[in-house]
Amino acid sequence: MTQAIRNTQQETNMNLHNTSHIPDELVPSRYALKIGEIDVMVVSDGVLLLPGAMLAHNAEPAVRAAWLKENFLPPDAFDWALNVVVVRSGGRTILIDAGMGAEFPDLEKAGHVIHRLEAAGIDLASVTDVVLTHMHMDHVGGLLIDGVKERLRPDLQIHVAAAEVKFWEAPDFSRVSMPPGFPDALRKTAKRFVKEYRNQLRTFEDEHEVAPGVVVRRTGGHTPGHSVVRVASGGEGLTFAGDLVFTVGFEHPEWFNGFEHDPEEAVRIRTALLRELAANGELLVATHMPFPSIGHVAVAGKAFRFVPAIWDY
Ligand SMILES: [Zn+2]
Repeated sequence: MTQAIRNTQQETNMNLHNTSHIPDELVPSRYALKIGEIDVMVVSDGVLLLPGAMLAHNAEPAVRAAWLKENFLPPDAFDWALNVVVVRSGGRTILIDAGMGAEFPDLEKAGHVIHRLEAAGIDLASVTDVVLTHMHMDHVGGLLIDGVKERLRPDLQIHVAAAEVKFWEAPDFSRVSMPPGFPDALRKTAKRFVKEYRNQLRTFEDEHEVAPGVVVRRTGGHTPGHSVVRVASGGEGLTFAGDLVFTVGFEHPEWFNGFEHDPEEAVRIRTALLRELAANGELLVATHMPFPSIGHVAVAGKAFRFVPAIWDY
């Protein structure tokens, strides 16, 4: 554990262009699987040290503290995973979300996705499409790292819900519960992202098939344009839920996450998605669940239970 942390910190200081000198990582940062004919890879961008209170800002502090204790988590802040997904289907290479980049220097253990993609043999120039679950900085920041835009294809398409782009023109932060500095950083990053990539944006209203068997669908809730991506082939299915589900969301789908701009709606959609996945038995991957975050959803009384998939390697 200590060695892993040291390893990650060491990498943070590495120059992006100097990928040949990246030390071997002791903890794996990618996990690949197949959904029918479609290749799926979960890649870790690192972790975000965030307050535990943000997992449940509408919960009684004592109840929340008890939950953290029962889950062997420290009472104040802990490392939230940050996962992105790469999907290959129909000759297209699709990057779903782009990690933190260098947008918030205090979160120094994230921002690794670009060099980890390269370490996984995925050249930035081979990426044909980016799908954004939403435009929070931990999902778009990777594309704003110095030098990245120049290495992406000029015909790259970035798929995002029209409602998401519209939201960030005048975002409402009245219902969130974030540490100081976050709302400003989120506003600034989303604005910069749209400015940098306006010509690449391909907006959709409710649903869009990015490649055969790869469909992005707007859910709203977390942000008005928040979307999930379902990959389906050969009778198998996997949904990348973005920020609709957090570690705590199975036992307590009704708890408000501090990043949710419309928490009641987020609870409603989270519950509906978990119910759907429990019924159809398809796989779930989520941005902030422990890497590689692949598993099934089971019903447990009035709530749910996450059942991690057994690694096949
Ligand atoms: Zn997020």
